[in-house]
Amino acid sequence: MTTPLVFTGNCFDRASHLRNDANWLAEQKQDPKSRFLPMHRLKALIQLGESSQIDWRPSDEVQEYLDDGSTLIFLGNHDGIAHFAIDVSTIENPKAPPSSNWGKFIDVRSISAQLNSHEAGALAQARSMLSWHENHRFCSVCGAPSVLKDSGYARKCSQEACGGMHFPRTDPVAIMMVTRGDRCLLGYGPHFPKEQYSALAGFIEPGETIEQGVRREILEETGVIVGNVRYHSSQPWPYPSSLMIGCFAEALSEEITLDPVELAHADWFTKDQVRDMLAKSLTRDTPRMSPPLAIAHQLAKAWTEEK
Ligand SMILES: [Zn+2]
Repeated sequence: MTTPLVFTGNCFDRASHLRNDANWLAEQKQDPKSRFLPMHRLKALIQLGESSQIDWRPSDEVQEYLDDGSTLIFLGNHDGIAHFAIDVSTIENPKAPPSSNWGKFIDVRSISAQLNSHEAGALAQARSMLSWHENHRFCSVCGAPSVLKDSGYARKCSQEACGGMHFPRTDPVAIMMVTRGDRCLLGYGPHFPKEQYSALAGFIEPGETIEQGVRREILEETGVIVGNVRYHSSQPWPYPSSLMIGCFAEALSEEITLDPVELAHADWFTKDQVRDMLAKSLTRDTPRMSPPLAIAHQLAKAWTEEK
């Protein structure tokens, strides 16, 4: 793969051995070198410009949120500096942030492709983690409130008798380039732009291997039978917490029987057709492939480049 895929370049040392080191954490929270990413309802503070970047702020500018118990996630160390994400959703008017030199709160999906690879990866981590905390404030065993632990990487039930521990989840999604000879199977869902094609995808279910999930999803959505499955690459997809697992799958049959709930259309395409669709991926012309930030685009590209 020649283009680094969006969200795959996170190079934090996550330093999990420090997540419960209270002294070290207290020092980092006061260290003027430490960097904090303020997030407002899952939107990230960004300095927009020719090369947009995360608007990391020093601790004194987020002190209010450090003091009031806002969700704080230790993202990791980079170049010897501790980096955190902090939830500042209590800011009433995000268009008028606490300091005039702050950037703007921007939707992660719309900005990530413009950031450098590491920073896009940092956003994926921060967005998934904050989203999980927001939606898991209560213990799923007994229903009592839970509290943040391990610098954000766990929550513990507040009822001592229960003590339930809960951990942030990652949901595996198989996304598969189904091929048969020199043709591949692509489709698009009923809620997607017409004739913007993607590789087929679906959640891996409990008790399934990746290969079984791939075969089941393709059979359910298109009726096509698949044999050999080969892993290609993966991509965190923080909406809210998926891990896209890109695979190649060899079809053993060709006839398509569409599941209309999952797909509006699916068809077989040649390499020349797919090259043309890739070239149009950032235009409004159709038929086109999904944009380069999607792993489907990269799988299709890799297939057209295969000898
Ligand atoms: Zn509980």
